[in-house]
This record gives sequence, structure tokens and C-alpha cells, in this order.
Amino acid sequence: MTAHVDDLIAYLDASPSPWHAVESTIERLPGFTRLEETDAWDDVPERGCVVRGGSLIAWHVPVGLAAHAGFRIAGAHTDSPCLRVKPRPDSGQLGWKQLAVEVYGGILNNSWLDRDLGVAGRVVSHGGATLVAVREPVARVPQLAVHLDREVNSGGLKLDTQQHLAPVWGVGAPDDGEFAAWIGDRADLGASADWWELCLFDTTGAAVLGADRSLLASGRLDNQLSCWAATTALAASGPSELGALIVLNDHEEVGSASTTGAAGPFLESVLERLVAARGGTADDLHRAIAASSCISADNAHAVHPNYPERHEPGHRPIVNGGPALKVNSNQRYATSADTAALFEHACRSAGVPSQVFVSRNNMPCGSTIGPITATRLGIPTADVGVPQLSMHSARELCGVDDPAHLADALTTFLSP
Ligand code: ZN
Repeated sequence: MTAHVDDLIAYLDASPSPWHAVESTIERLPGFTRLEETDAWDDVPERGCVVRGGSLIAWHVPVGLAAHAGFRIAGAHTDSPCLRVKPRPDSGQLGWKQLAVEVYGGILNNSWLDRDLGVAGRVVSHGGATLVAVREPVARVPQLAVHLDREVNSGGLKLDTQQHLAPVWGVGAPDDGEFAAWIGDRADLGASADWWELCLFDTTGAAVLGADRSLLASGRLDNQLSCWAATTALAASGPSELGALIVLNDHEEVGSASTTGAAGPFLESVLERLVAARGGTADDLHRAIAASSCISADNAHAVHPNYPERHEPGHRPIVNGGPALKVNSNQRYATSADTAALFEHACRSAGVPSQVFVSRNNMPCGSTIGPITATRLGIPTADVGVPQLSMHSARELCGVDDPAHLADALTTFLSP
């Protein structure tokens, strides 16, 4: 169990952006040959992967498998809510240098205050993209002192996302082009960066927490924890009558509608090519899809000791109680009775406990990539997830045992 946690901590700390999560995944799949989408795929390796932006698909399709054989698919998302650096970020006043930032996804605004922030993502100069991660603290969104906001504790903290979330990153007058030159230097471009997609992130690393060492605190547990579990499972996949495949999509936190998101054509395109590369016809593709099933892993809400009333009484996941099946008959989650049984069977076979999450009728239910993938391709899907607290905080909290539980269950699912 400790080795699992150490590896997850290393994965989280190495992955302050979706593009870094893709790199961290590739590092954990050493025997997998990377293909390019622009190349011909007439000689597809048994173990391979392909990257599109902040998304990755990797597979283990055993040699000799029929073209119409189905796939066992594990899905997760690489992106997390955060603050992103705008294209013209140099701003500030009154002796402060600030960065103009854009809110990416549904952040908990207050969780970004008073943290020592680094910058990571990709920069583009002369048409070439480079990954960059500045891991020492360079920015901070300072909260207003309580002396200057006497009502904050009784009235609640109100933050205007345009006015109150701009971090300071130095003192002096703002200097147009300063950030572009600085990040270009940090990325070893030899010039200012022209364009970028850059996330701010908490520089505090992931940490085991609790006197009994039972918890894990980190940024991006939603949903890099599931990316790590899927990757670990695929790396361990063995012989099977089915192909094993993981799909890690970017842009879930902003609705999945993009070239790399789960609503885009990435997975469909790769499945088509994997079938075609084995001499499959269009009919073989349809047979393969009909014989496939998917587990979409995205963290669930653990019951909160200070807010127990926010949970449906009979379906309250606890931390370290195993991954939760997420059920919603209004199809905000894709889980059906069949796919629930399939995942529960995988958990039992792996010796892993499992739980069930259903939201309250009077509380809107979140959603995830599961229903989107299921709708696009018609592949039966179960939505599952490790229970956590503080979802979408800059620093989230889960149980220390559950990530390995999920990885073990996915391993059994991927190679039945
Ligand atoms: Zn998520």
C-alpha cells in the first residue's frame, strides 16, 4: 500500500497541469510505443499510446485478438479547476505587479487565497510547444485582512472573480511583456513566449495526513487520482480475450466539448484505427463497440462530518471504504444495473470494498465524462470514483487506501 501512495504522490507532484499529467502517465507505461495521429497505423503495437493535447489514450491489445473483439475501457480526466494566466497578463497598480488570470472550471474561490503559487503548462514560441513548470512560489492571491473586512466571518467571504483573484507576483510598476519574457526564459525558449496555456498551482506537495496516516491531501486529486489508477491498472494488464484501453481526457471541468475532450472524436477515432489495423471492417468496429464496456472514474463526494445533511442518508460514501459507484436515474451518471454489477464484480474479484453514491433529490447532481462517452459511442458505462472531501479546492482530501483500491479494481476490470 505504501508503494502505491508514494507513487501517487510522485504522480500528483509531477503533474501541475493536464499536459504534465499526460507526461507522467507515459513515464509509467515504459513498454508502450507512442504513435502519432498523423502517421499511418498499419503496424499497431500490442501496447501503445497516442497523445492529443492534454489527452491520452493507451492500450494493450493482445496479439492475435480478433478484429471484432471488444474493449475494456477505463476513463478519467486530466484537468482540474484552477486559475489560468491570460494572454496579456502584465497588470497591477499602487506598487504591485499582478497577473491577469482567468478562472478555469468551477474553482472554490476562497481556496486559492494565501497560497504560494507556481506556474505550469505549455508555452509556444515560433510554432513549437514546450512544457514548463515553475515549481517555486512566484505568485499569491492575498486575502484582505480581517481588520479591513469586519463582516467577513459573520457575513461570509464574497469574492469578485475579476477583481479579487488577481495574484501579486512582484513589486514595482507593471511592465508590458515582462511575463512573456520571464516564462520564455524559464522554459528555455531563448526568447519571449508568444502564447501559452498556463495553470497556477499550489506549490505545497501532496502529503499523507492524520495521526493514523489515513488521509492524503493534494491539489488535483479530482481527477489525477483516477488517471493514476487507470494508468497503474493498464501497466499491470495481462492476457485477455478483450482489448484493454485507458482514455484520459482534458476539458472535463469545462464541459468536455473540445477536440481533446470526451465529447470530441478522439476515442472513436482511436477505436476505429485499432480495429482497422487488425484488418477489421466497419461491421467489425460495430461488433467491437457492442462488445465493449467502460468504467469512468472521477472522484465522488465522501460524507462530510460537519455537513452530514448534504448527503442522501442511505448512500453516504466514507473514505477508505473503497470506490463508490455513482448512480443517477436521470443519467447524470451513466451507471446502469448491469454496469454496476460489472464493477462490483471487479471489486470483489480484486478483494476491494465498494460503496454507492446517490445525491439527494433536492440537491443538483454533478456529472462527468461517463455519460458523454456512453452517449457518443453507445458503450455501456459505470461511473465510479474515490470518495473525497473539498472537491475543487486548491487542496483536496481523500483516504490513503482508496486510490490503490481503485487501481486494483480497474486492473481486474481491464483484464478479466
Ligand atoms: Zn472530476
